[in-house]
Amino acid sequence: MVIFELHKDTMKAISGTNLEQAKSHNRRVVIEAIRTNGPLSRAAIARMTALTAQTVSNIVEELQRSHLLVPAKAQKLARGQPIIPYSINPHGAYSIGLELGPRRASGVLTDLSGAVCARIERHVEYPDPERAMSVLGAIVEDLQQAFAFDRDRLLGVGMALPGRYADGGVTSLSPQNLPGWQDFPVGYELERRVKVPVLVENDATAAAIGERLHGVARGFGSFVYLFLAGGGGIGAGMFLDGHLYKGSRHNAGEIGHIIVEPHGRLCGCGKRGCLDRYISATVAYEFMGIENARELSPEDLDTHIAMNGEGLNAWLDQAVQPLRQTIDFLELAFDPQTIVLGGTISSLLMRRLAERLEPLHLPIDPTEERSVPRVMIGATGRDTAILGAAALPIFSETNPRFDVLQKPVG
Ligand SMILES: [Zn+2]
Repeated sequence: MVIFELHKDTMKAISGTNLEQAKSHNRRVVIEAIRTNGPLSRAAIARMTALTAQTVSNIVEELQRSHLLVPAKAQKLARGQPIIPYSINPHGAYSIGLELGPRRASGVLTDLSGAVCARIERHVEYPDPERAMSVLGAIVEDLQQAFAFDRDRLLGVGMALPGRYADGGVTSLSPQNLPGWQDFPVGYELERRVKVPVLVENDATAAAIGERLHGVARGFGSFVYLFLAGGGGIGAGMFLDGHLYKGSRHNAGEIGHIIVEPHGRLCGCGKRGCLDRYISATVAYEFMGIENARELSPEDLDTHIAMNGEGLNAWLDQAVQPLRQTIDFLELAFDPQTIVLGGTISSLLMRRLAERLEPLHLPIDPTEERSVPRVMIGATGRDTAILGAAALPIFSETNPRFDVLQKPVG
C-alpha cells in the first residue's frame, strides 16, 4: 500500500489532499476528524479537512456503505436542506488484542470504540514460542466464537510485547524472561495461524496508541506515555506532532536506561544509576521483600503491597526524585501537551507513586496557562497493554499517519 504523507505543515491539525490517489489517506482523515470532534456534517468535515465537498461526499458515502460511519438524526433547519451529522459506528469494525506473560495468555475482542465485547484468559507456564503461538491462536479463534459479529468486520490482531528491536527491523520483542524467544518472528508466525493481519508493537507504544484512540490522550497531537511494566522495566511511547516516533532503529523511548544517579546502582544493561533501578516494579518488590510477584494474582499482589507499608514508603522515597527528573527531561526534550503515566504495574503502586509526584520541577514557562495537566494518569489501568494491542489494528486502519507501525517480518 502506498501512503501519502503531508509534507507541508498546514494550519489545521489534520488536513486532506484532493489527489485521487490519496483516497485511502483521505478516508483516514475523515474518520479522524469525526473521532476527535464527535458527530460532524459533511460541510463541517469539508471545512475541517480542507477537502472539497465532492470528495467528502464520496468518502462519507463509501464509509457509510462499509458500516464505519452512521448518520444521526437530521437537524431540521428553518430553510434549506436538513443537516445530517455522521458519527463513528462502534459496530462497524472489530479488533483483537493479545497479551502474553509468563503465567497467563489473554485476549480481548473490542469494537471500534474500544469497548470490550469478549475476554479470554488462559493459564500458561513459561511457554516457548511454539506453545505460545498455539495458545494465542486458539484464543483468537475462541474470541470470534464468544461474541456474535460479522467476521468480515474484524480488522486484525494486535499484540503488545516488552522488548527491543534488533537491527534490520527484525523484532526481538518477547515476553520478559521467557527462553527461546530471541529473534522469533512473532507477528509473522501468528499471522500464519490466524489468517488475519497481525501487528506487533512494544508495550509502551501500544499503550500510547490505546490512550490516543480511546483514553485520556484522545485528540492530542503530542504526548509521551511513560509506561511502567508490571514485570519490571520502563519505556516511553512517543506520539509527537501526530506521529508515532520510533527512532532510527525502532528503539526510541528506552528511557529506563537514562542515568538519573551517576555512579548509582548497577543495572542489567551494564551502566550504573539507570532510572529502571529506582522506579521499576522490580525495585519496588525488592524494597518490600516480595520475591514471587510474578506468581501472584493482581489482587494478591496488591494485598502483599498493602501489608508492606514500610517497604513501599522506602521505595517511594527513592523513586520520586528520579521520576520527577524524567518528567522534566521529557517535557524539555519533546514539549508534549501532557505526559501520561500508566502501565501494567500494580494499580496500587501506580496510585501511590502518582500521589507523591508533586511538586514537579518548574516548567520552562511557569506563567503559561495550561488547559491540560502536565501529568495525567492513563485511563485503562492494568489493562493498558492489551487494550493498546487491540487498538493497533484500528489505529493502523483509521489513522491518517499510521505508516510507522511495525509490520510483521518473516
Ligand atoms: Zn540500564
